[in-house]
Amino acid sequence: MTTRVVSGKYTLGTRDGAQVLLQDHYVYVDGPNIEAVTRDAPAPGQEVIRCEHGLVTPGFVNLHAHCIRGGLFRGIPDDLEMDPPWVPKLVYTILLPLTALAAKELSAEELRAVTALGMIDLLKGGTTTVLDMWHHGQEVFFDVARQIGLRTVGAPFIMSASNSRLGPDGYPMWDFGNDGLAQLAKSIALFEARDQGTDGLAQVGIGPHATDTCLPELLRECRKSADDLGCILTTHFAQTPEELALLRRRYGMGAAEYARHAGLLGRNVILAHAGCATDAELKVLADTGTHVANCALSFAREGVNFPYARFAEAGINTGLGTDSHGMDFIGEMRTTGLLSKNYFGRAHFGTAHQLVRAGTMNGADALGRPDLGRLEAGAKADLLVFDLFKPHLQPVRDPIKNIVWKGHAGDIALVMVHGEPVVRDGVLLKANEASIMRQAAIAAQKIWSIAEQRQILPAQR
Ligand SMILES: [Zn+2]
Repeated sequence: MTTRVVSGKYTLGTRDGAQVLLQDHYVYVDGPNIEAVTRDAPAPGQEVIRCEHGLVTPGFVNLHAHCIRGGLFRGIPDDLEMDPPWVPKLVYTILLPLTALAAKELSAEELRAVTALGMIDLLKGGTTTVLDMWHHGQEVFFDVARQIGLRTVGAPFIMSASNSRLGPDGYPMWDFGNDGLAQLAKSIALFEARDQGTDGLAQVGIGPHATDTCLPELLRECRKSADDLGCILTTHFAQTPEELALLRRRYGMGAAEYARHAGLLGRNVILAHAGCATDAELKVLADTGTHVANCALSFAREGVNFPYARFAEAGINTGLGTDSHGMDFIGEMRTTGLLSKNYFGRAHFGTAHQLVRAGTMNGADALGRPDLGRLEAGAKADLLVFDLFKPHLQPVRDPIKNIVWKGHAGDIALVMVHGEPVVRDGVLLKANEASIMRQAAIAAQKIWSIAEQRQILPAQR
Protein backbone atom coordinates (compact mmCIF):
# COMPACT_ATOMS: atom_id res chain seq x y z
CA MET A 1 0.00 0.00 0.00
CA THR A 2 1.30 3.43 -0.91
CA THR A 3 1.90 5.45 2.19
CA ARG A 4 3.28 8.79 0.94
CA VAL A 5 3.70 10.92 -2.13
CA VAL A 6 6.40 13.58 -2.50
CA SER A 7 6.26 16.16 -5.23
CA GLY A 8 7.86 19.40 -6.36
CA LYS A 9 8.17 21.35 -9.58
CA TYR A 10 11.29 19.39 -10.55
CA THR A 11 12.39 15.83 -9.82
CA LEU A 12 15.84 14.44 -10.52
CA GLY A 13 14.83 11.01 -11.78
CA THR A 14 16.62 8.45 -13.96
CA ARG A 15 16.29 7.23 -17.52
CA ASP A 16 18.41 4.40 -18.94
CA GLY A 17 20.75 4.65 -15.97
CA ALA A 18 21.37 8.39 -16.37
CA GLN A 19 19.99 11.17 -14.19
CA VAL A 20 17.34 13.24 -15.90
CA LEU A 21 15.42 16.29 -14.77
CA LEU A 22 11.65 15.74 -14.80
CA GLN A 23 8.91 18.34 -14.34
CA ASP A 24 5.68 17.98 -12.36
CA HIS A 25 6.29 14.38 -11.33
CA TYR A 26 5.26 12.53 -8.18
CA VAL A 27 7.45 10.20 -6.14
CA TYR A 28 5.28 7.42 -4.68
CA VAL A 29 6.74 5.90 -1.54
CA ASP A 30 5.70 2.49 -0.29
CA GLY A 31 7.20 1.79 3.15
CA PRO A 32 10.97 2.23 2.80
CA ASN A 33 10.92 1.99 -1.00
CA ILE A 34 10.07 4.12 -4.00
CA GLU A 35 7.16 2.56 -5.78
CA ALA A 36 7.06 4.88 -8.80
CA VAL A 37 8.20 8.22 -10.18
CA THR A 38 5.37 9.31 -12.42
CA ARG A 39 3.23 12.13 -13.77
CA ASP A 40 0.10 10.37 -12.45
CA ALA A 41 -1.48 12.58 -9.80
CA PRO A 42 -2.35 10.98 -6.46
CA ALA A 43 -5.90 10.05 -5.57
CA PRO A 44 -7.83 12.44 -3.31
CA GLY A 45 -7.14 11.81 0.35
CA GLN A 46 -3.66 10.44 -0.23
CA GLU A 47 -0.92 11.97 1.93
CA VAL A 48 1.10 14.31 -0.29
CA ILE A 49 4.18 16.26 0.74
CA ARG A 50 4.10 19.03 -1.84
CA CYS A 51 6.65 21.81 -2.34
CA GLU A 52 5.36 24.20 -5.02
CA HIS A 53 8.81 25.41 -6.10
CA GLY A 54 10.58 22.28 -4.95
CA LEU A 55 13.38 20.23 -6.48
CA VAL A 56 13.26 16.58 -5.40
CA THR A 57 16.64 14.83 -5.53
CA PRO A 58 18.05 11.58 -4.17
CA GLY A 59 19.62 11.98 -0.72
CA PHE A 60 23.39 12.38 -0.78
CA VAL A 61 25.66 9.39 -0.21
CA ASN A 62 28.56 10.69 1.85
CA LEU A 63 31.46 8.38 1.09
CA HIS A 64 33.86 9.45 3.82
CA ALA A 65 33.13 11.11 7.14
CA HIS A 66 33.95 10.95 10.83
CA CYS A 67 30.80 12.35 12.37
CA ILE A 68 32.09 11.99 15.93
CA ARG A 69 34.88 14.43 15.07
CA GLY A 70 32.64 17.09 13.51
CA GLY A 71 31.99 18.91 16.78
CA LEU A 72 35.28 17.98 18.44
CA PHE A 73 37.33 19.56 15.64
CA ARG A 74 35.14 22.64 15.23
CA GLY A 75 37.48 25.59 14.66
CA ILE A 76 40.65 23.63 15.47
CA PRO A 77 42.40 22.87 12.15
CA ASP A 78 41.20 26.06 10.44
CA ASP A 79 43.76 28.80 9.70
CA LEU A 80 46.43 26.89 11.60
CA GLU A 81 50.04 28.03 11.28
CA MET A 82 52.43 25.06 11.45
CA ASP A 83 55.88 24.33 10.10
CA PRO A 84 56.02 21.78 7.28
CA PRO A 85 55.29 18.97 6.87
CA TRP A 86 52.20 20.32 8.50
CA VAL A 87 49.45 18.15 7.01
CA PRO A 88 50.76 14.92 8.60
CA LYS A 89 51.59 16.91 11.72
CA LEU A 90 48.03 18.15 11.91
CA VAL A 91 46.60 14.65 11.35
CA TYR A 92 48.91 12.71 13.63
CA THR A 93 49.72 15.17 16.41
CA ILE A 94 46.35 16.90 16.80
CA LEU A 95 43.44 15.21 15.04
CA LEU A 96 44.15 11.55 15.79
CA PRO A 97 45.19 12.23 19.44
CA LEU A 98 41.99 14.24 19.90
CA THR A 99 39.82 11.39 18.63
CA ALA A 100 41.76 8.89 20.73
CA LEU A 101 41.16 11.15 23.73
CA ALA A 102 37.46 11.29 22.95
CA ALA A 103 37.38 7.48 22.69
CA LYS A 104 38.95 7.22 26.14
CA GLU A 105 37.59 10.14 28.15
CA LEU A 106 34.00 10.71 27.06
CA SER A 107 31.24 9.09 29.09
CA ALA A 108 28.69 7.02 27.20
CA GLU A 109 26.21 9.93 27.36
CA GLU A 110 28.81 12.47 26.18
CA LEU A 111 29.89 10.25 23.32
CA ARG A 112 26.26 9.84 22.37
CA ALA A 113 25.74 13.61 22.28
CA VAL A 114 28.87 14.29 20.20
CA THR A 115 27.90 11.52 17.78
CA ALA A 116 24.34 12.80 17.52
CA LEU A 117 25.56 16.33 16.82
CA GLY A 118 27.67 15.11 13.88
CA MET A 119 24.76 13.06 12.55
CA ILE A 120 22.31 15.95 12.76
CA ASP A 121 24.86 18.09 10.91
CA LEU A 122 25.06 15.35 8.25
CA LEU A 123 21.29 14.97 7.84
CA LYS A 124 20.62 18.70 7.70
CA GLY A 125 23.46 19.02 5.19
CA GLY A 126 21.67 16.57 2.87
CA THR A 127 23.49 13.32 3.68
CA THR A 128 21.09 10.39 3.93
CA THR A 129 23.74 7.64 3.82
CA VAL A 130 27.18 7.97 5.36
CA LEU A 131 30.25 5.73 5.29
CA ASP A 132 31.86 6.68 8.58
CA MET A 133 35.07 5.64 10.35
CA TRP A 134 35.42 5.73 14.15
CA HIS A 135 37.16 3.85 16.96
CA HIS A 136 36.12 0.48 18.34
CA GLY A 137 34.26 1.17 21.58
CA GLN A 138 32.10 3.80 19.86
CA GLU A 139 29.43 1.35 18.66
CA VAL A 140 26.80 3.70 20.06
CA PHE A 141 27.19 5.15 16.55
CA PHE A 142 24.60 2.66 15.28
CA ASP A 143 22.11 3.32 18.11
CA VAL A 144 22.24 7.09 17.59
CA ALA A 145 21.91 6.71 13.82
CA ARG A 146 18.85 4.52 14.24
CA GLN A 147 17.25 7.01 16.62
CA ILE A 148 17.89 10.02 14.38
CA GLY A 149 17.07 8.13 11.19
CA LEU A 150 20.37 8.22 9.29
CA ARG A 151 21.46 5.36 7.02
CA THR A 152 25.02 4.32 7.84
CA VAL A 153 27.90 2.09 6.95
CA GLY A 154 30.15 2.03 10.02
CA ALA A 155 33.79 1.03 9.53
CA PRO A 156 35.70 1.19 12.82
CA PHE A 157 39.43 1.81 12.62
CA ILE A 158 41.85 -1.09 12.55
CA MET A 159 45.52 -0.18 13.12
CA SER A 160 48.88 -1.82 13.57
CA ALA A 161 50.19 1.35 15.20
CA SER A 162 49.72 1.72 18.93
CA ASN A 163 51.19 5.19 19.34
CA SER A 164 53.06 7.77 17.33
CA ARG A 165 55.72 10.41 17.87
CA LEU A 166 57.33 12.88 15.53
CA GLY A 167 60.46 11.61 13.79
CA PRO A 168 63.48 13.76 12.92
CA ASP A 169 61.96 14.66 9.54
CA GLY A 170 58.82 16.00 11.22
CA TYR A 171 56.81 13.00 10.04
CA PRO A 172 55.29 10.68 12.63
CA MET A 173 56.89 7.35 13.52
CA TRP A 174 54.75 4.56 14.92
CA ASP A 175 55.20 1.71 17.34
CA PHE A 176 53.57 -1.25 15.70
CA GLY A 177 52.72 -2.78 19.04
CA ASN A 178 49.02 -3.14 18.41
CA ASP A 179 47.43 -6.39 17.65
CA GLY A 180 45.64 -5.23 14.53
CA LEU A 181 44.25 -8.71 14.05
CA ALA A 182 42.34 -8.47 17.33
CA GLN A 183 40.75 -5.25 16.07
CA LEU A 184 39.91 -6.94 12.79
CA ALA A 185 38.27 -9.76 14.77
CA LYS A 186 36.17 -7.14 16.58
CA SER A 187 35.10 -5.69 13.24
CA ILE A 188 34.08 -9.13 12.00
CA ALA A 189 32.09 -9.72 15.20
CA LEU A 190 30.48 -6.31 14.76
CA PHE A 191 29.51 -7.26 11.22
CA GLU A 192 27.89 -10.47 12.46
CA ALA A 193 26.03 -8.60 15.21
CA ARG A 194 24.98 -5.32 13.59
CA ASP A 195 25.00 -5.53 9.79
CA GLN A 196 21.40 -5.44 8.57
CA GLY A 197 22.15 -5.93 4.89
CA THR A 198 20.30 -3.77 2.40
CA ASP A 199 16.94 -4.05 4.20
CA GLY A 200 17.88 -2.07 7.31
CA LEU A 201 19.58 1.24 8.10
CA ALA A 202 22.93 -0.09 9.31
CA GLN A 203 25.76 -1.86 7.52
CA VAL A 204 29.30 -2.62 8.65
CA GLY A 205 32.50 -2.23 6.62
CA ILE A 206 36.14 -3.09 7.23
CA GLY A 207 38.16 0.06 7.95
CA PRO A 208 41.94 -0.25 8.26
CA HIS A 209 43.07 3.27 9.16
CA ALA A 210 45.75 4.09 6.57
CA THR A 211 48.76 2.77 4.68
CA ASP A 212 51.24 4.28 7.12
CA THR A 213 49.53 3.14 10.34
CA CYS A 214 48.78 -0.40 9.15
CA LEU A 215 51.32 -3.03 8.11
CA PRO A 216 50.73 -4.68 4.72
CA GLU A 217 50.06 -8.09 6.29
CA LEU A 218 47.21 -6.56 8.29
CA LEU A 219 45.84 -4.76 5.23
CA ARG A 220 45.80 -8.04 3.30
CA GLU A 221 43.96 -9.79 6.15
CA CYS A 222 41.44 -6.93 6.19
CA ARG A 223 40.85 -7.32 2.47
CA LYS A 224 40.39 -11.06 2.80
CA SER A 225 37.79 -10.53 5.53
CA ALA A 226 35.91 -7.92 3.48
CA ASP A 227 35.83 -10.37 0.55
CA ASP A 228 34.63 -13.20 2.80
CA LEU A 229 31.92 -11.08 4.42
CA GLY A 230 30.86 -9.50 1.14
CA CYS A 231 31.26 -6.01 2.56
CA ILE A 232 33.28 -2.96 1.57
CA LEU A 233 36.79 -2.09 2.72
CA THR A 234 37.72 1.55 3.14
CA THR A 235 40.95 3.23 4.18
CA HIS A 236 42.84 6.54 3.98
CA PHE A 237 45.23 6.43 1.03
CA ALA A 238 47.88 8.68 -0.56
CA GLN A 239 47.00 11.65 1.63
CA THR A 240 50.43 13.29 1.78
CA PRO A 241 53.78 13.19 -0.06
CA GLU A 242 55.36 12.11 3.25
CA GLU A 243 53.13 9.01 3.38
CA LEU A 244 54.22 8.05 -0.14
CA ALA A 245 57.90 8.71 0.68
CA LEU A 246 57.53 6.37 3.63
CA LEU A 247 56.02 3.61 1.47
CA ARG A 248 58.88 4.07 -0.97
CA ARG A 249 61.45 3.88 1.84
CA ARG A 250 59.83 1.01 3.73
CA TYR A 251 58.72 -1.19 0.83
CA GLY A 252 60.38 0.29 -2.27
CA MET A 253 56.97 0.78 -3.90
CA GLY A 254 54.87 3.58 -5.35
CA ALA A 255 51.27 4.19 -4.27
CA ALA A 256 49.49 1.93 -6.76
CA GLU A 257 52.10 -0.80 -6.55
CA TYR A 258 51.79 -0.77 -2.77
CA ALA A 259 48.00 -0.77 -2.99
CA ARG A 260 48.20 -3.93 -5.08
CA HIS A 261 50.74 -5.48 -2.68
CA ALA A 262 48.50 -4.72 0.33
CA GLY A 263 45.22 -5.85 -1.27
CA LEU A 264 43.76 -2.35 -1.62
CA LEU A 265 42.59 -2.56 -5.23
CA GLY A 266 39.19 -3.80 -6.32
CA ARG A 267 35.48 -3.19 -6.65
CA ASN A 268 34.75 -3.47 -2.94
CA VAL A 269 37.49 -0.98 -1.98
CA ILE A 270 36.89 2.73 -1.34
CA LEU A 271 40.07 4.75 -0.96
CA ALA A 272 39.65 8.06 0.84
CA HIS A 273 41.56 10.93 -0.80
CA ALA A 274 44.23 9.28 -3.03
CA GLY A 275 45.23 12.83 -4.01
CA CYS A 276 49.00 12.31 -3.94
CA ALA A 277 48.85 9.40 -6.39
CA THR A 278 50.24 10.21 -9.85
CA ASP A 279 47.99 10.23 -12.92
CA ALA A 280 49.44 6.85 -13.96
CA GLU A 281 48.67 5.45 -10.50
CA LEU A 282 45.12 6.78 -10.68
CA LYS A 283 44.72 4.84 -13.94
CA VAL A 284 45.56 1.66 -12.02
CA LEU A 285 42.75 2.44 -9.56
CA ALA A 286 40.38 3.01 -12.48
CA ASP A 287 41.43 -0.22 -14.25
CA THR A 288 40.80 -2.29 -11.12
CA GLY A 289 37.38 -0.73 -10.38
CA THR A 290 38.67 0.78 -7.13
CA HIS A 291 36.57 3.73 -5.92
CA VAL A 292 37.77 7.06 -4.55
CA ALA A 293 36.07 9.19 -1.89
CA ASN A 294 36.97 12.78 -2.69
CA CYS A 295 36.89 15.19 0.27
CA ALA A 296 38.25 18.36 -1.28
CA LEU A 297 37.23 20.84 1.41
CA SER A 298 39.15 19.04 4.10
CA PHE A 299 42.38 19.48 2.12
CA ALA A 300 41.59 22.89 0.60
CA ARG A 301 41.60 24.36 4.10
CA GLU A 302 45.20 23.13 4.37
CA GLY A 303 46.20 24.68 1.05
CA VAL A 304 46.14 21.34 -0.81
CA ASN A 305 44.13 20.83 -4.01
CA PHE A 306 42.49 17.39 -4.50
CA PRO A 307 39.77 18.21 -7.08
CA TYR A 308 36.97 15.81 -8.01
CA ALA A 309 37.54 16.11 -11.77
CA ARG A 310 41.12 14.84 -11.56
CA PHE A 311 39.89 11.44 -10.34
CA ALA A 312 36.85 11.38 -12.59
CA GLU A 313 38.99 12.21 -15.64
CA ALA A 314 41.25 9.27 -14.79
CA GLY A 315 38.16 7.05 -15.16
CA ILE A 316 37.68 6.31 -11.45
CA ASN A 317 34.21 5.99 -9.98
CA THR A 318 34.54 8.97 -7.65
CA GLY A 319 32.12 9.78 -4.85
CA LEU A 320 32.20 12.68 -2.42
CA GLY A 321 32.68 12.88 1.32
CA THR A 322 32.76 15.63 3.91
CA ASP A 323 35.48 14.08 6.10
CA SER A 324 35.32 15.86 9.46
CA HIS A 325 35.56 19.48 8.38
CA GLY A 326 31.83 20.13 8.44
CA MET A 327 28.99 18.07 7.10
CA ASP A 328 27.47 20.42 4.51
CA PHE A 329 27.29 18.40 1.30
CA ILE A 330 26.41 21.38 -0.90
CA GLY A 331 29.49 23.20 0.37
CA GLU A 332 31.56 20.12 -0.41
CA MET A 333 30.22 19.88 -3.98
CA ARG A 334 30.81 23.55 -4.63
CA THR A 335 34.36 23.49 -3.27
CA THR A 336 35.45 20.45 -5.24
CA GLY A 337 33.74 21.86 -8.37
CA LEU A 338 35.57 25.16 -8.10
CA LEU A 339 38.86 23.40 -7.40
CA SER A 340 38.27 21.22 -10.48
CA LYS A 341 37.81 24.26 -12.70
CA ASN A 342 40.86 25.87 -11.13
CA TYR A 343 43.00 22.71 -11.58
CA PHE A 344 42.19 22.34 -15.29
CA GLY A 345 41.80 26.05 -16.02
CA ARG A 346 38.45 25.33 -17.75
CA ALA A 347 34.87 25.91 -16.62
CA HIS A 348 33.43 22.63 -17.90
CA PHE A 349 35.30 20.47 -15.38
CA GLY A 350 33.40 19.63 -12.19
CA THR A 351 29.96 20.62 -13.47
CA ALA A 352 26.96 20.83 -11.14
CA HIS A 353 25.36 17.79 -12.81
CA GLN A 354 28.57 15.74 -12.50
CA LEU A 355 28.90 16.69 -8.83
CA VAL A 356 25.32 15.78 -7.97
CA ARG A 357 25.76 12.47 -9.77
CA ALA A 358 29.00 11.90 -7.84
CA GLY A 359 27.24 12.69 -4.58
CA THR A 360 24.37 10.32 -5.26
CA MET A 361 24.78 7.48 -7.81
CA ASN A 362 28.58 7.25 -7.74
CA GLY A 363 28.60 7.03 -3.96
CA ALA A 364 25.86 4.40 -3.99
CA ASP A 365 27.70 2.37 -6.65
CA ALA A 366 30.89 2.48 -4.58
CA LEU A 367 28.97 1.00 -1.65
CA GLY A 368 27.58 -1.70 -3.93
CA ARG A 369 24.07 -0.28 -3.42
CA PRO A 370 22.23 0.15 -6.72
CA ASP A 371 19.11 0.80 -4.61
CA LEU A 372 20.52 4.08 -3.25
CA GLY A 373 21.39 7.44 -4.83
CA ARG A 374 18.59 7.41 -7.42
CA LEU A 375 14.89 8.18 -7.59
CA GLU A 376 13.34 5.26 -9.42
CA ALA A 377 10.97 2.39 -8.74
CA GLY A 378 12.53 -0.16 -6.40
CA ALA A 379 15.13 2.19 -4.92
CA LYS A 380 15.10 3.12 -1.25
CA ALA A 381 13.07 6.25 -0.50
CA ASP A 382 16.03 8.38 0.60
CA LEU A 383 15.38 11.84 -0.81
CA LEU A 384 15.69 15.60 -0.39
CA VAL A 385 13.35 18.41 -1.33
CA PHE A 386 15.04 21.78 -1.96
CA ASP A 387 12.79 24.81 -1.73
CA LEU A 388 13.85 26.95 -4.68
CA PHE A 389 11.57 29.86 -3.80
CA LYS A 390 14.44 31.86 -2.33
CA PRO A 391 16.02 35.10 -3.62
CA HIS A 392 19.35 33.34 -4.16
CA LEU A 393 17.71 30.48 -6.12
CA GLN A 394 15.23 32.36 -8.33
CA PRO A 395 14.65 32.50 -11.24
CA VAL A 396 15.25 28.91 -12.30
CA ARG A 397 16.74 27.84 -15.60
CA ASP A 398 18.63 24.81 -14.32
CA PRO A 399 17.72 23.88 -10.72
CA ILE A 400 20.77 21.60 -10.36
CA LYS A 401 23.12 24.46 -11.19
CA ASN A 402 21.21 26.71 -8.80
CA ILE A 403 21.56 24.42 -5.80
CA VAL A 404 25.24 23.55 -6.40
CA TRP A 405 26.50 27.04 -7.22
CA LYS A 406 24.07 29.23 -5.25
CA GLY A 407 22.42 26.97 -2.65
CA HIS A 408 23.14 25.93 0.91
CA ALA A 409 21.97 23.40 3.48
CA GLY A 410 19.25 25.78 4.69
CA ASP A 411 17.45 25.35 1.36
CA ILE A 412 16.59 21.72 2.16
CA ALA A 413 12.92 21.63 3.16
CA LEU A 414 12.62 17.86 3.57
CA VAL A 415 15.02 15.03 4.29
CA MET A 416 13.52 11.56 3.98
CA VAL A 417 15.38 8.35 4.82
CA HIS A 418 13.97 4.84 4.36
CA GLY A 419 10.58 6.36 3.56
CA GLU A 420 10.45 8.39 6.79
CA PRO A 421 10.70 12.19 7.02
CA VAL A 422 13.58 12.98 9.40
CA VAL A 423 13.99 16.74 8.81
CA ARG A 424 11.09 18.97 7.81
CA ASP A 425 11.37 22.72 7.22
CA GLY A 426 14.69 22.76 9.04
CA VAL A 427 13.38 20.90 12.09
CA LEU A 428 14.89 17.60 13.19
CA LEU A 429 11.95 15.30 13.80
CA LYS A 430 13.28 12.36 15.79
CA ALA A 431 15.41 13.93 18.54
CA ASN A 432 15.79 17.13 20.54
CA GLU A 433 18.37 19.12 18.64
CA ALA A 434 18.83 21.93 21.19
CA SER A 435 19.51 19.56 24.04
CA ILE A 436 21.98 17.55 21.92
CA MET A 437 23.85 20.74 20.96
CA ARG A 438 24.17 21.76 24.61
CA GLN A 439 25.40 18.33 25.75
CA ALA A 440 27.84 18.03 22.84
CA ALA A 441 29.32 21.47 23.54
CA ILE A 442 30.01 20.50 27.16
CA ALA A 443 31.57 17.21 26.03
CA ALA A 444 33.80 18.92 23.44
CA GLN A 445 34.92 21.50 26.00
CA LYS A 446 35.93 18.66 28.32
CA ILE A 447 38.11 17.07 25.61
CA TRP A 448 39.64 20.42 24.63
CA SER A 449 40.58 21.11 28.26
CA ILE A 450 42.29 17.72 28.65
CA ALA A 451 44.02 18.25 25.28
CA GLU A 452 45.34 21.62 26.47
CA GLN A 453 46.65 20.06 29.70
CA ARG A 454 48.48 17.43 27.64
CA GLN A 455 49.73 20.03 25.17
CA ILE A 456 47.93 18.47 22.23
CA LEU A 457 46.18 21.84 21.79
CA PRO A 458 47.65 25.22 22.63
CA ALA A 459 46.18 26.80 25.76
CA GLN A 460 43.36 29.17 24.93
CA ARG A 461 44.18 32.81 25.59
ZN1 LIG B 1 39.20 10.56 7.14
